[in-house]
Amino acid sequence: MNLLEELIAYNKDFVSKKKYKEYTTTKYPNKRMVILTCMDTRLVELLPKALNVKNGDVKIIKNAGALITHPFGSIMRSLLVGVYELQADEIFVIGHHDCGMSGLKADSMIEKMKQRGVKEEILETLAYSGIEFKEWLKGFENVNESVAHSVDVIKNHPLLPQDIPVHGLVIDPTTGKLDLVMNGYEQL
Ligand SMILES: [Zn+2]
Repeated sequence: MNLLEELIAYNKDFVSKKKYKEYTTTKYPNKRMVILTCMDTRLVELLPKALNVKNGDVKIIKNAGALITHPFGSIMRSLLVGVYELQADEIFVIGHHDCGMSGLKADSMIEKMKQRGVKEEILETLAYSGIEFKEWLKGFENVNESVAHSVDVIKNHPLLPQDIPVHGLVIDPTTGKLDLVMNGYEQL
């Protein structure tokens, strides 16, 4: 069985045995919060457990590094949808130690793309089209600074209501320990 077949077989069983019942909830977050965090595998279950959030409690947005690369990109849009349409009243940006985006070098990733068959011409075309390719692929050096920067971008976004606290935290991907980077209530 390949991975897809495995997933589909398991899913059939999950649904037929009504295992979904314990997860029934609504699309509105009970804790009226939205979290932006990293897609890291270690945080899949650890982060909700460490924060005591369950199905129905929170909207969670994930990407590589919990980064906002563009103030009008899909991450910022998701945060605004959370606030305006889904009753989220507080925003939490949660980065983590030992993140794959920490120290990510664009050059090394571009090298891997070439090894996997991406042609040099394609890279050149993208560069000529005005795409800041290396900038786009760049990670961050310091997770605290990166979280503080994301909080700043959100807090100063022209479309965010002034009364929404935006908190910044860093989580340990092994112990789940949280460190506070920015207390959003103090910025209101
Ligand atoms: Zn990460």
